[in-house]
Amino acid sequence: MKVDNIIIGSGISGLTAAAILARLGRSVAVIERNRRVGGSLRRFKRNGVAFDTGFHYTGCLGKDDILYRLWDYLGLLQYLDIQRFPDYSHENISFFDSSLEIPLYFSYKRSEEELSSLFPQDTEKIREYFRTVREVAATIPFYNFDVSLNEFFRDYWKPSQVPVKGILSGISDNRLVLALLIHLFLYGVPASQASLGTHAMVAHAYLNGAYHIVGGGQAVIDSYLKILRRAGVEIFTSMDIERIDIKDGAVHAVCADGEFFRTENVIYTGHPSRLFDLLPESFFRPAYVRRLRGLINTPSMFVAFCSLNAEMDDYGKSPWINYYALFSDEDMNSSRHRQLDRLPVMLTAPSVRDGTGKQGAVLLRESSMEEVLAFDQHGEEGKRAAGYEAWKRREGIALCNKANMHWFGSDEALELLETSSPLTFRDELGAPEGTVYGAMHSINQLTPSHMTRLRGLYLSGQSILMTGIVGASLSSLVTVGEIVGKESLWERITGS
Ligand SMILES: Cc1cc2nc3c(=O)[nH]c(=O)nc-3n(C[C@H](O)[C@H](O)[C@H](O)COP(=O)(O)OP(=O)(O)OC[C@H]3O[C@@H](n4cnc5c(N)ncnc54)[C@H](O)[C@@H]3O)c2cc1C
Repeated sequence: MKVDNIIIGSGISGLTAAAILARLGRSVAVIERNRRVGGSLRRFKRNGVAFDTGFHYTGCLGKDDILYRLWDYLGLLQYLDIQRFPDYSHENISFFDSSLEIPLYFSYKRSEEELSSLFPQDTEKIREYFRTVREVAATIPFYNFDVSLNEFFRDYWKPSQVPVKGILSGISDNRLVLALLIHLFLYGVPASQASLGTHAMVAHAYLNGAYHIVGGGQAVIDSYLKILRRAGVEIFTSMDIERIDIKDGAVHAVCADGEFFRTENVIYTGHPSRLFDLLPESFFRPAYVRRLRGLINTPSMFVAFCSLNAEMDDYGKSPWINYYALFSDEDMNSSRHRQLDRLPVMLTAPSVRDGTGKQGAVLLRESSMEEVLAFDQHGEEGKRAAGYEAWKRREGIALCNKANMHWFGSDEALELLETSSPLTFRDELGAPEGTVYGAMHSINQLTPSHMTRLRGLYLSGQSILMTGIVGASLSSLVTVGEIVGKESLWERITGS
């Protein structure tokens, strides 16, 4: 089969790359190894309750924001019901060992006011923090369309040496530090390794407003499928590319059954370290191979999907607030090897925001392969040793009990329906070590570029550029821009 562009992977990044190319009249095929399209965006149901895998909320969907502009350009908005979180909504930071609750609003002004009234002794530092995040965000083209994309990217793949910790030193209360760093949970980097640039990129998106999409990630997938099918894009599921050959100036993506696609460009959106499953290492410089293979990943997670036995309101809780619980002496500098019973927990209820259907909530805490290694049968995908289901259930119930007592003051508000572990993420998403946000975007390692030394082979996805729905979408904008002309594509999308 001959097609101009092959996209490997159908997460938000693959769907976005396919949609931009199709919008520009290029022929495209998407190849997904899973039987379902959508990667981390997929929604599923248990006992009639809808749950999202990897999409609980997002920033950048205000009318002047980049994701909104991109989706407008692609013709997706007509299919999506986007809801801005109401003014009272916020990240609610609470503590297992202190009665204080700290609200971090989806608004610079309100956050600064509330935090200053809770921590008057640190008012100057609070002001400095928000001013700095705003100033850094203003240098990022995705937030300030006047900034040149090319100039920004000249430096982007060099490691940023400015640690975010710097602007927080001198704060007198660790609980305030934890609240200001809560966005670390959304990109999975410990404070000691987080750069100011990356932190500002994530924090600014939410300090400018948070958004829900009715129907969650599945609604996003479905709307992408509508425009892709209309544009004639072929989508192949349950299909594994066995290898990529470069022959006679053309790229061949060869499937396990011997069928192959002859194409000009391949955009690979899986984890960069898995690229060498598809191409011989000898195609690349040894240093490049070592770098991609050695990428340090963000942690994995253990997730408990629960039903709620009453409306959230009945418990004085709102689905428009994300609840976090931590220990007040938590050290955000280290992310791994913490005691399991001291790990921070997040509670969020995206599908309740839809206003229809049964009530359910999701509990998330960090996890790692070490926790599940005993159940991994010879590394074989999908195969689990005896005792795995019982272990998952025990861990899930323990997490539910903890959340029930901390947030609901009742031992039966949340009831466990389903869990996912690092093995689930590893096998369902092809994510090494079950990493949830891909390779770390940190001061300690270079972010892999979207370009490779092979003509016609590009990378995209959450490990390239930035993580999250916004980051993975923008990564495809940049990658496709390389193929079709970055500045002109940028102009079409932003009008600048
Ligand atoms: C538990 C969790 C909660 C999250 N919450 C949020 C949130 O609230 N807001 C937010 O913005 N982000 C959130 N994220 C992050 C966000 O979901 C991801 O950053 C983003 O969806 C990644 O998109 P992607 O396209 O890069 O990768 P993926 O969604 O992982 O898609 C990659 C796809 O490529 C396929 N693939 C890989 N290799 C191959 C191959 N060789 N051949 C064929 N197919 C292949 C995979 O099967 C997969 O379908 C969350 C993530 C998780 C896991």
